[in-house]
Amino acid sequence: MKSPKHTVDIRLQNKQIVMRLLCFHEPMSRMEISQDTTLSPGTVTNVTGELLQEGILAKTGLVESVGGRPRTLLTISPNYGYLIGVDLGETHIQLELFNLARQKLGAIRYGIAESGNTPDYYVEQISSGLKELASSTGIKEEAILGIGIGVPGVVEHNGYVSIAAPMWNWQRVEFLNMLEAKINLPVYIDNGAKAMALAESWFGAGRGVEDMAVILLGTGIGAGIITKGSLYRGATNSAGEWGHTKIELNGRPCRCGSQGCVEAYAGAPGIISSLKTLSGESAKQDEDQIVTIKNLVEAYRAGDSSAVQVLHATAHYLGAGLANLVNLFNPELVVIGGWAGLLIGEAIMDELKKYVAQYALAPSAAHLKIDLCQFGQDAICMGAACLVLEEFLSANKKFMRQSVEG
Ligand SMILES: [Zn+2]
Repeated sequence: MKSPKHTVDIRLQNKQIVMRLLCFHEPMSRMEISQDTTLSPGTVTNVTGELLQEGILAKTGLVESVGGRPRTLLTISPNYGYLIGVDLGETHIQLELFNLARQKLGAIRYGIAESGNTPDYYVEQISSGLKELASSTGIKEEAILGIGIGVPGVVEHNGYVSIAAPMWNWQRVEFLNMLEAKINLPVYIDNGAKAMALAESWFGAGRGVEDMAVILLGTGIGAGIITKGSLYRGATNSAGEWGHTKIELNGRPCRCGSQGCVEAYAGAPGIISSLKTLSGESAKQDEDQIVTIKNLVEAYRAGDSSAVQVLHATAHYLGAGLANLVNLFNPELVVIGGWAGLLIGEAIMDELKKYVAQYALAPSAAHLKIDLCQFGQDAICMGAACLVLEEFLSANKKFMRQSVEG
């Protein structure tokens, strides 16, 4: 005879199966759910009945069936609860609020002074941004299922969550604990490139692709690697620090303390440094990176020879770095995103493809596609929201109860 605990686990598992399937393939009829899973029609009726009663699922219409009654279509109820995704960048902080159908209902963006990169400052900004977002969208804080945050730097999951971000002088900052002390919501933190990889793989450019890499090009550079449909994390979640792989021995110093890293050449400050070297100007301390890169791309389009030279060099460095990544992971797709990636992406794409093909091993690169990310400037917020969605889809009872009370 099955123990009561076993029965409960099976029920939870069945809920997870149905919620996951509907999240990625809704709307579906009960019959389709049964056909696409190992669950019998009777089990699907029970599980969906329970989820409908809890308000997690909604009926969304009818579909004709051959020789039978029309079938009811089910979805995850879009307004059962809400997700907040935060993109904690080096130049900005962006908060976005989504419903469970991943529709963006509100957003707030703040610029950040370089001296503002302290953990206390970010905790304050996130906490006040959260309140502002809830009030501007008219959504009660109790209806928010959780807040996901994508951060630059290494987010270690090593018994506790800590962040190491050398450029901010953060060494193993226990940011999660700090946030949880201030915010009365479940909080999930991961590296921004990993969060972005999750969004692009689940709902964006990589939908249906099993092996892919998502490249985040901003002030810093990171990568999220998806292998066989799951995020590759490594032993302590620091896999994907591709920006600090070396492409030039005895090369430029990098913010990580080493030298010759991809980031030192193809991160926004690296690109700007190439531009200054070429034009003989010295770099300005308070330079607005976004404005400078935008101007560079405009000059490139106008045929300016320095701009052409700098973006070709950037494509060359990135192409060499990407070829190393392709040789190691053999992805089917590489997606380029991040604010700088989105600005220069189109301009460098042809050259980038050429250099990857030149430097990667032919069998690894033979079927490789390189594309731009689909969620644009929202990709990290969307990915951070997916960290919350992932927990929601686990049908965790505590998580559910909290949202039902809201
Ligand atoms: Zn480095």
